Amino acid sequence: MKLGFIGLGNMGSAMAANVLKAGHELTVYDVRKSAAEELMASGARWADSPRAVAQASDIVLLSLPGPVEVEKVVLGEDGILAGAKKGDLVIDLSSNSPTVLQRIAAVAREKGVEVIDAPVSGGPWGAKAGTLTMMVGGDEKAFERSLPVLQAMGKSIVHVGDVGMGNAAKLIHSMMAQIIMQGLAEGMALGAKLGMDMKKLTAVLGKGGAASNILIEKYPQYGLKGNFEAGFRVDLSFKDINLATTLGKEMGVPLYYGNLALQKLVELRARGHGDKDVTACLLPIEEMLKVKIRVPGPEE
Ligand code: NAD
Repeated sequence: MKLGFIGLGNMGSAMAANVLKAGHELTVYDVRKSAAEELMASGARWADSPRAVAQASDIVLLSLPGPVEVEKVVLGEDGILAGAKKGDLVIDLSSNSPTVLQRIAAVAREKGVEVIDAPVSGGPWGAKAGTLTMMVGGDEKAFERSLPVLQAMGKSIVHVGDVGMGNAAKLIHSMMAQIIMQGLAEGMALGAKLGMDMKKLTAVLGKGGAASNILIEKYPQYGLKGNFEAGFRVDLSFKDINLATTLGKEMGVPLYYGNLALQKLVELRARGHGDKDVTACLLPIEEMLKVKIRVPGPEE
């Protein structure tokens, strides 16, 4: 299949590599050309704009920061719709606003181009391993057409409804994950202040009711070893939880913990941690309590 991939960041570069490994022809684009170097060395072709990617492809995948970038890349002057032909498919893997995506899909449909949303969960390690969870929204036929491509990147792929509903599921997931992340930080802070061994504490918690991927995979690979280089940036989490809590207001659903989690992200950005990994939520707690919440390792 002739595929295009736009947005080659922490997630996109690894997902695009798996698409290439599955044997598809791949054309790529990112505002940072350097992000495509490894993929080009493995056989991907570079195109100079989203429009040129669309001209070379039947299906275009997007992994962009959020609604603003997706709108520009699809509808912009040199965007996908300027280069796409009737029958093409756009798969948005970004975490996006359901309503923005529905609007983009309606414009695309007028040109005979189908848009579906397939936001992901599983982090850069899941993207690399091809084991992502994917929440798909869109037309049933378009979903079936997208499946062989999605299966190159993900393991648990669920069609949850019409276009936009994949993102609705993703925003719910992001909000829950962020609440868990901050709740775990609070518990680990108490353990650290009590002088407990973080390795033993997290090992035993990981076998109890508080277990989650965030405790078992995320914290040990990032914050707990002092690695705050972004796997998932605070700015992106802020974008997700902001969209989720806005959706809550629109639907009349109170989201007490979601809004608390959002304010923590506002604080992290105000402290200058926007570009760091989300596990940087440990840093202000460490500063306040004058204690390290860490498992010693090579990064320390
Ligand atoms: P990232 O910031 O690492 O990557 C985004 C990429 O898009 C960058 O390479 C950037 O240069 C490129 N880009 C920005 N604007 C562009 C434009 N106009 N045209 C072309 N390229 C452009 O982000 P990421 O962590 O890879 O996340 C990508 C998406 O996946 C986001 O929507 C994020 O919320 C979601 N997501 C991330 C994770 C994670 O753990 N990192 C997990 C699940 C979902």
